Amino acid sequence: MSTSRPPGGRRFPAPLPAVDLRLLRPQRMVQAAVADARRQRPPAGLGLDSAVVRGRMVERLRAGGIGDERVLAAFAAVERHRFVDPALVTQAYEDTSLPIGLGQTISKPSVVAQMLQVLLHELDTRRLASAGGTSGSRGVFGRVLEIGTGCGYQAALLARLAERVVSVERLGALAEKARANLAAAGVHNVQVLHGDGLLGAPAMAPFDAIVSAAGGSEPPSAWLDQLAPGGRLVAPGAPARPGAQPLIVVERTSSGWTRRVAAEVWFVPLKSGTE
Ligand code: SAH
Repeated sequence: MSTSRPPGGRRFPAPLPAVDLRLLRPQRMVQAAVADARRQRPPAGLGLDSAVVRGRMVERLRAGGIGDERVLAAFAAVERHRFVDPALVTQAYEDTSLPIGLGQTISKPSVVAQMLQVLLHELDTRRLASAGGTSGSRGVFGRVLEIGTGCGYQAALLARLAERVVSVERLGALAEKARANLAAAGVHNVQVLHGDGLLGAPAMAPFDAIVSAAGGSEPPSAWLDQLAPGGRLVAPGAPARPGAQPLIVVERTSSGWTRRVAAEVWFVPLKSGTE
């Protein structure tokens, strides 16, 4: 009996035409990146060069007005490509927000840098310590609260500026993803909580700094209450017009709070409740 004929006499389908594998080359980077992500190694093609690519991003941030060396050093150190989808690694060091699933995005480096710079601007660690803040010997800040962990990138940057970062994310799946990303990146001083960030993290308060990666209204009173004396809060506020939100800075003084607008930004909305 012929092996090319199945029982019943039907012919096997004709073999697929030979494909010139060289034509598939443009896909190689992505396939390699996916394989590297599974092995938790820096993607091929970014690998050894990734510090160089990151260095270019840092220079662009500097040219765009980010002058705080502590912020720039954090951007030089944190491997952003570990926090984006394997298929998007080639865009990881562009100044763009990228999808991270569940309709959310990783924030644009220039916006994150601006927020961190505002957070650090003229901040005197000794002033914090003497005012009763949580700052210690390591890092500029003691405890920092981040609202909206997303994929964990900004948390990893904050982790280089603080002794301890508490980050709250309302989407359980993203909180999980962020924990995995941070562990893979070797970041161990960030605690990711699945919860409603509008409530802050009262059990861990007070915080030297509070930074929100989502916004749309005035900072809730829970955040103001959880700010240490001398501490500072940075959050996007209610849009002044479509596409423009004020970046609100609140400082806690010995007698109360001061509020000012530092810049205009655009963030995803802050939603209440968890999913
Ligand atoms: N910090 C991220 C940005 C994430 S985008 C980065 O490094 O790129 C903003 C995130 O805020 C989203 O993941 C969204 O789910 C989350 N978010 C929105 N409202 C929230 C709330 N009330 N509490 C906690 N997280 C919230």
